[in-house]
Parts: sequence; C-alpha cells; structure tokens
Amino acid sequence: MNTTTPSVTTFNDFGLAEPILRAVTELGYREPTPIQVQAIPIVLQGRDVMGAAQTGTGKTAGFALPILQRLMQHANTSASPARHPVRALILAPTRELADQIYANVREYAKYTGLRAAVVFGGVDIAPQIAALRQGAEIVIATPGRLLDHVGQRTISLGGADVFVMDEADRMLDMGFLPDIQRIINLLPPVRQNLMFSATFSGEIRKLAETFLQHPVSIEVARRNAAAENVEQLVFRVADAESKRVAVAQLVRERALSQVIVFTNTKIGAGRLARQLEKDGLNANAIHGDKSQQERLATLEAFKKGEIAILVATDVAARGLDIVELPAVINYDLPYSPEDYIHRIGRTGRAGASGAALSLMTGADERLLDGIQSCSSANCPSRPWRWPAGARTHGR
Ligand code: AMP
Repeated sequence: MNTTTPSVTTFNDFGLAEPILRAVTELGYREPTPIQVQAIPIVLQGRDVMGAAQTGTGKTAGFALPILQRLMQHANTSASPARHPVRALILAPTRELADQIYANVREYAKYTGLRAAVVFGGVDIAPQIAALRQGAEIVIATPGRLLDHVGQRTISLGGADVFVMDEADRMLDMGFLPDIQRIINLLPPVRQNLMFSATFSGEIRKLAETFLQHPVSIEVARRNAAAENVEQLVFRVADAESKRVAVAQLVRERALSQVIVFTNTKIGAGRLARQLEKDGLNANAIHGDKSQQERLATLEAFKKGEIAILVATDVAARGLDIVELPAVINYDLPYSPEDYIHRIGRTGRAGASGAALSLMTGADERLLDGIQSCSSANCPSRPWRWPAGARTHGR
C-alpha cells in the first residue's frame, strides 16, 4: 500500500516574491492550475517553452507570474521612463485577448513596481504612445499595431529579452507570420521564448523551430481536455431559415442564461443578432466590422450579464474568458475541426459542465464529416452524440 502523502503544490512552493504572492492571494487563487504547476518552475529557470494550452486553463498566470518574478530585480519606483524599458513582449492575435492579458498582468504586477502597457489596432494610437512614453517593462501587443509603434519609434524592443507568443495557431490563421518574423528580428538575439498554442499543426511546429531554443514541451492534462465535460449535440434543421428559430428554441427550452452563438461570417453575425432581438431575445453581436469601442462595450455588457446571447465570429470570440458559460451554439458549423474545438472550449470551463449545441442542414453534411473524421492530434476527443430521440428543431 502506498502510504506517502501526495504532494500538493501551492503558490508558496514556487519561490515567488511576496508582492506577487499577495496579488495572487487577493485574486482568490487558492492553488495553481495544472499548467501553472508545470510552467512556472520552467519559466523561472529561464528555459524556452512550447505550451499546448487553451485560454481558460490559467495559462496567462502560468507565464506572467514567473516573468514578473524574473523581472523583479529590475523593479523600481522611479518616475523616469528611462528606468522602465521594455523587458518582456507578449504578442496576442486579437485586441480582446491582448486587453485581457493586460488586465491580468496589471493585477499580478500591482505590488511589484513593474509596469505594463497594451497596444492594439482599431483605436487611436495617441493614448498608446503616451502610455509607452511613461515606460513599461511588459508590453502586450497585437502584431500590426506593434509594428506601427516601431515605425513611429515610440517603442524599442532591443531590450525585450523575454518573448511570449500567445495563441500562435490563431496568429498564423490571421496571416501574421510576416509581421511576427519582423518583430522577432527586432528582439535581442539572446532571449527567453515562450510559445502557446491550442493546436499544433506542422506549420506551428515549423515556426516553433525557427525561434525556440531547446524548448520544454508542456501539455495541459490530455489533449482536448476542454471537451471532456462538454455535452456535444447536433441538431438537424430543415433549412437555413429554421436555424434562427432553433436558436431561440434552444435558449428557451434549455433555459440558457447566457450563450455564445457562433456564425461563420460577420454579416451573418450582425443579421442573426438583429433577428433574435426582433424575436424578443436579448442579443448582441461582436465581429470584426464593429469598432473596437463597440466590441469592448458589448463584451463588457455580456460579462456583466446584461446581454444574454452574444453572436460572434471565431476571430472576435477568440480567447475570451467568460466565466461559467453554460453553452455555446454553432449556428454555422465551423469550417475546421480546430475552430470547433476553440468554440466548445468557451463552455465547460474550470470543471463546470457545458453544452455545445450545433445546428446543421443537409448542406452542412460535409462540414460535419470533416469534424467527425478529423484525424489530427487535436480533434474533438469524443464522438458526437445525437440528441436522444433524434429531435429536430426549428421546423
Ligand atoms: P487564462 O487561461 O489565463 O485566461 O485564465 C482563465 C481564468 O482563470 C482567468 O479568469 C484567471 O483569472 C483565472 N485563474 C488563473 N489561475 C487561477 C488559479 N490558480 N486559481 C483560480 N483562478 C485562476
């Protein structure tokens, strides 16, 4: 019989400085998540990391806390911007994710004397320039706007010897590869590199080889752990028109307090949100055609519970951290299994159960086949279950 007591890792075991621990305690983090247990000691050692982890796993603290610890030696209370040069760069694919990482890092850093700033496109550049002028050891950025700042000489990356690439798969999907390569060329040649991605295609591995040095691979739980406690159902509807009715039915029948409904197009997202509103439902849309202010305001309202149904495209919803989302609905089946995984990862977080409800017409058969017969390492871990009694909706 094994009589040894299993060792439980606590935040105190990592050797983090008191100001960092204080912030973590105040945030109510009682124990580290699996990715934090794995990543924090390795990042503290200064090693490169290739992490397979989705947003929602506690990944941000997994890299941000040890980075802060490593930067603590440079922390100072000087008002002089020159005393706060950029030492760590975190790249994210979307404005929302960049803003979310920034909000987290600011919380974690609040007692350290280290400063953070965020830059992303779609908003006025002037306030960002003013923020960068103040000095910030940690900069979180989307690639395009970061290069704008480089072009205007409002940021210097020559001292950024910690580089994090978050959601690398989505960066490539969004065509950021040339920008990323330009950015990497601006960083000091000797540096620590951390790359996180929810999926690992050949392309991602190739990118990893170009800039990671002997990386330690970190994988959270098993692949697709996000899907383990998510009930996945597919509902067949008569035609595209019936899908809207089906969404309204599912929301009402399942008494869904909040749900993200995914569409494949921006136009489709806007149209569906308007139709649902006409049907008396509390819906709004976020997609790339809306202004940054509108997107952030809608997201904030959804997080506060003021909006029940958020209609979103994949890009807009990427990396959103919404607590306790009971369900997602695929109004359109996504084109790729990876997008399917990202979408269903919005529900069933942190051990809660969730539902991924997909709508399809006969025309979507091939998309469903593609997802079901997906053979890459990151396919949905369980076969789909068809609803009991093969109920159809929206007829
Ligand atoms: P992330 O995957 O980094 O976006 O984190 C997902 C959510 O988990 C965020 O709301 C974090 O504030 C929260 N979180 C991260 N680490 C912990 C932890 N150790 N305990 C509780 N919550 C955490």
